[in-house]
Amino acid sequence: MTHLQRFQKRLDGGCAALISSAQNRFYLSGFHFDDGYLLVLPDAAFLLTDFRYEEAAEKTADPAFTVLSPKGAMLGAVAEILAERGAKSLLFEENDVTFALYRRLQEKLTAVSVTGGAAAILSELRVLKDAGELAAIRRAQEITDAAFSHILGVIRPGVRELDVALELEFFMRRMGAEGAAFDTIAVSGTASALPHGVPRDRVLEKGFFTMDFGARFGGYCADMTRTVVIGRADEEMKRLYHTVLAAQETALSRAAAGVSCRALDLAARELIDGAGYEGCFGHSLGHGVGIDIHEAPRLSRTAPEDAVLTPGHVVTVEPGIYLKGKYGCRIEDLIAITPDGRVENLTKSTKELIEL
Ligand code: ZN
Ligand code: ZN
Repeated sequence: MTHLQRFQKRLDGGCAALISSAQNRFYLSGFHFDDGYLLVLPDAAFLLTDFRYEEAAEKTADPAFTVLSPKGAMLGAVAEILAERGAKSLLFEENDVTFALYRRLQEKLTAVSVTGGAAAILSELRVLKDAGELAAIRRAQEITDAAFSHILGVIRPGVRELDVALELEFFMRRMGAEGAAFDTIAVSGTASALPHGVPRDRVLEKGFFTMDFGARFGGYCADMTRTVVIGRADEEMKRLYHTVLAAQETALSRAAAGVSCRALDLAARELIDGAGYEGCFGHSLGHGVGIDIHEAPRLSRTAPEDAVLTPGHVVTVEPGIYLKGKYGCRIEDLIAITPDGRVENLTKSTKELIEL
């Protein structure tokens, strides 16, 4: 079944959906465009864009979509289709539509009741990746792993954090990635204590050096983190690194279909707390990855009690320990839950402590 068909099955008769976000337009149509909407009814689908995208849309989008480039206002064309088809209600993406667009929808589409709800349905569908999506994510992660091997040969005294981040991104583009899936993190020395530090115009400092990066391929993201040591690791650094690694391995070995997202976070957290680093793992264990770098499900202490890993989920497992003002370390892999409920680790890079 196509993504469009799965979504159409969730629409009641007389109900239509207006898809406005770039991510969900791509998810449903397979076509990436900057301007326009998808209008989906239970038995029909329209891709409304302007003439710049018309030809590419006809070639690339799911052929179930009728491609239109209205001469007048787009919402006018939407109103006409809804009237022709006798639609009673219109669902919009409640987490994408601005207040201004909402006002315009109410103004222009007076014949239907306009309400949110499309985003929640799409989030439920997108959380379960099919074989095609998994293949794209697997390739994105292969490129990301290759970039890590490459960067180990680039890191040497005098290289700046900025150089490392740029080289990772160039390499991934050369390998066929569409770009970086998110802003690359490459932070050394005391900055490694910042989970979301920005690469600086500064030579790599001695100590931990954290690189968190990922390629985007076929519209899908990859995400990994490795922490290496610039210079030599002392005993304290070794202990901290191996605690993070043990926490990750504990979570990886317990992950499987049916396992609670909350329990998995707690398993890693208890190990870190028990090793004397209580309160130093300040973020969640992991997050879903797909068209967006952060999507459902969340592996978190605050995840809903009944949220469990399910075949088709693709999530990160990324414990870390951060000692404020001193240094920090995070190790992140990307895993998929297979149809038979086991874990496939998509990240192949070594996790041995590397000293450069
Ligand atoms: Zn990451
Ligand atoms: Zn992540």
